[in-house]
Amino acid sequence: MPPNIENPRRKTIKTLKNIPHPAWDIFPMEKYTSCLRFSRMTESDRAFPIMSTRGCTDKCSFCFRLDSGIRVRKPEDVIDEMKILYEKYGVTYFYFVDELAVVNKKQILKLLKLIKTELPPIKFRMDCRVTCFDHEIARELKSAGCGMLNIGFETSSQKVLDEMNKRASVTQNIAAAELALKNEIGIGINMIWGLPGDTIETMKNNAEFIKKYNQYDQIRTIRPVTPYPGSPLFVKAVKEGALEGPDDFYEKFNNSDLYMVNFTNETMDKIYEALFEVNSDLIRDHFQNTSQNWDRADDLIGRFRALYFEGGIDFRGPRDSLPSTISDKQAINRHQRSDSATTMGVWDGLELEEGTRLSGM
Ligand code: SF4
Repeated sequence: MPPNIENPRRKTIKTLKNIPHPAWDIFPMEKYTSCLRFSRMTESDRAFPIMSTRGCTDKCSFCFRLDSGIRVRKPEDVIDEMKILYEKYGVTYFYFVDELAVVNKKQILKLLKLIKTELPPIKFRMDCRVTCFDHEIARELKSAGCGMLNIGFETSSQKVLDEMNKRASVTQNIAAAELALKNEIGIGINMIWGLPGDTIETMKNNAEFIKKYNQYDQIRTIRPVTPYPGSPLFVKAVKEGALEGPDDFYEKFNNSDLYMVNFTNETMDKIYEALFEVNSDLIRDHFQNTSQNWDRADDLIGRFRALYFEGGIDFRGPRDSLPSTISDKQAINRHQRSDSATTMGVWDGLELEEGTRLSGM
């Protein structure tokens, strides 16, 4: 075997405005624009990724971002690229893959204004920090075509939020969830568990948060926190002797739904028992509010059981599995029943058929 060659790290490109658009014409764009499927896309929509920023303002303890700080593209430049993708390749659904697209109010409002004035009606999804989200941004996101906002709520515990250096509050999490739903924007509810300060009670509270704001676009479960190399949690794990270094991490990492390091005061047996109970409940809740396909619910629960207790590491979690059928109306009705303070209108989305692969978070 030839030896591994490690090139020196390239310097960070500080100014993004001089980077030309990718040469998409040398790629099989027909394939690339037809393989991503997200909830609320129609059959004729074509999805493609785009970036409006690089980096992030923060340094959450579990996040493995390698560069500090955020670099923002000029909104006009982003629009230019979107125009090319729309006009040459028929892209009508833009998947903003920025770590944080909604991070600066002035910048995002400008981008949204240009999306509305410079492009034909399109749809998109973005990632957002709850600390930079208000009624004006929510309203403009919706009117520009945002169907899904991926929000890193992470936990329903203020203590754990502080421990992970999220620089956000539970109150802001709740306000962001309600504001998005009030403006008829779907939310990706990302909840992790297993950070310092987490308890079985915080796990159960996280599940309750998911159930309260769930729109059932996809099956949502509680996922373990993983100390990826580059993250402060990884440094902590190495310092405490739980990991030897990056090689040890990659040797041990075989399924992101399993714990590599226990940062809590609970035993691993207790953690997996509680996780199994909570995730089984979330799966049943999902199918109760969607297709009521109990065979599939039982199958997924069985696969979680095999993963947690019997070494069935080939299971990649329900998000990577086929979604169940749910109509917008079903989800809306369900949500109106569960939270009368949140009013949801009719989404412009599609009813996902059994067998449609759902991408994203
Ligand atoms: S988790 Fe999100 S907000 Fe936190 S550092 Fe990573 S990208 Fe930034």
